[in-house]
Amino acid sequence: MEDQMQEKRPVLIVGAGPTGMAAALELVRFGIPLRVVDKYAEPSGTSRALAVQARTLELMHQRGLADEMVALGNKGLFTTMYAAGKQLGQVDLRQIDSRFNYTLLLAQSETERILREKLEESGVLIERQTELVAFEQPERGSGVQAMLRKGDGSLEEFEATYLIDAEGAHSVVRRAAHLPFDGKSMPNSYALADLHVDGDVAEDQLSIFLASSGLLAAFPMGNRRFRVIATEKEAVDKDAPDPDLDYMHAMWSAGTHIPVAFRNMVWSSRFRINSRAMHQLRYRSVFFGGDSAHIHSPAGGQGMNTGIQDMMNLGWKLALVYRGLAKESLLDTYNEERMPIIRHLVEATERATDLFNSDNPVVHSLITHALPLALSFPGIQQKGATIVSQLGGNYQKSSLSENLRCEGTLQAGDRFPDVVLNEETGTRVLDLLDPSAFTAFCFGGGLEAVKHELTKLTLPIVEHTLPVASDVVRGLLGNSAVAVVRPDGYLLCTGHPSEILNQLRAWTLRWLCLASSGHSSEGTS
Ligand SMILES: Cc1cc2nc3c(=O)[nH]c(=O)nc-3n(C[C@H](O)[C@H](O)[C@H](O)COP(=O)(O)OP(=O)(O)OC[C@H]3O[C@@H](n4cnc5c(N)ncnc54)[C@H](O)[C@@H]3O)c2cc1C
Repeated sequence: MEDQMQEKRPVLIVGAGPTGMAAALELVRFGIPLRVVDKYAEPSGTSRALAVQARTLELMHQRGLADEMVALGNKGLFTTMYAAGKQLGQVDLRQIDSRFNYTLLLAQSETERILREKLEESGVLIERQTELVAFEQPERGSGVQAMLRKGDGSLEEFEATYLIDAEGAHSVVRRAAHLPFDGKSMPNSYALADLHVDGDVAEDQLSIFLASSGLLAAFPMGNRRFRVIATEKEAVDKDAPDPDLDYMHAMWSAGTHIPVAFRNMVWSSRFRINSRAMHQLRYRSVFFGGDSAHIHSPAGGQGMNTGIQDMMNLGWKLALVYRGLAKESLLDTYNEERMPIIRHLVEATERATDLFNSDNPVVHSLITHALPLALSFPGIQQKGATIVSQLGGNYQKSSLSENLRCEGTLQAGDRFPDVVLNEETGTRVLDLLDPSAFTAFCFGGGLEAVKHELTKLTLPIVEHTLPVASDVVRGLLGNSAVAVVRPDGYLLCTGHPSEILNQLRAWTLRWLCLASSGHSSEGTS
């Protein structure tokens, strides 16, 4: 394995936004040599993505980053919708099935700083003022040839084994390869400002105001600071200056019933929405993720979260293949697993944006009448919270989940929920899942033989023995004595000892390289 690693060129990550940095964090943890380049001299200081969803926080928790994010951010416990001065309904985000049962509101610049510092701690320095200007891939064989332009204008030719494209919406690689980025530019522009609000606007909720003049949203950032976004239905000149305090106040007064005063605006901007996605996330040795692969309406605060989760899916697969532990075909499952989630996201955010900004008075009236009724059903509330928090996404239909039987309610490819595993110690799933290996939970005694057999598989696996399965675990897993979870926290399989070993042997034969030796370690919780 070491020899194979030494023969290989590094992985090149283009773009040091949240997607590129998440990719780098995943790969460096597996010891994969890499370079991260970014064309700008400084990181962006703007707050763009405010909403960090529960699933992202769960993944950050496993990487030791969630505590700082939560300490710095503000918790949105509800999403409340208003129209014509009345509350239409409220989604209670506290029912999200996670220890992070809220939407965390934290400036993207802070999320990026936390990722960057973790990378630096791991020995990875972002190469700034280094722009990818051209790239080539041989028709046959593997590898990528990239042309990088430095700040002083000099050019460097660099050969990489794989390239992760995290360049954002205007990807040079995607364009150079003539890969489609289908979708549409949506009507309307949006005015945005981060400012201080004096007035009766709740700080523990995301407030959404529906008016015939368009949608207006207020996201609390803590200490009376808010992000205000308002639809501009009137065409705004392309060269118009960024919105100022008076302009934002006029938009607020037209769209809401709450009297406020605005001050201390630290950032304002204007944006239009493009709703587009690639057809394929893999192009031979190049993998696309984040905004370079999918852009959409910021409705629901999903974009950055999705980019980070793209990389949590790709990272372990690329690392195993790079190290010669897994077959190349494992890399195709990145597209297979993430693409359905991306397609659904782009369609859903497009539909929601069209609907809430509709000029049609009948549609507007239907929404304002239907929403209170819909939100009075707990099932609909729960479903909405699960979708927005990104906890509902699963890989059940992936070929990685094929032929893997599960006994309880949890299926192969489902997120393994953060339930209490051991009622005596209070140990929970997220505290034990290892993002650098498969995790096997063995419940009850007499499993020495299984544990011994697990170590013989070519799977990097960590075992945790728990005295008995808690009631909630029995509900999820039935009477299974063993559950194996993927490095990205999704269930691989469950079963009785002999059954699970057969399943794992077949899975290993299909996806892993048998010539290499796996590793394993044990823990007792
Ligand atoms: C107003 C607004 C609000 C939003 N709110 C949310 C929200 O609440 N929650 C959420 O999840 N998402 C939100 N988003 C979306 C979120 O900001 C993006 O999805 C996220 O920034 C994507 O990250 P990325 O790393 O893929 O791309 P980017 O953040 O665009 O980063 C790309 C990086 O690549 C670099 N780069 C580009 N080209 C090259 C090149 N050729 N060579 C080298 N480097 C290059 C750039 O300098 C940049 O640093 C919002 C977006 C907007 C506009």
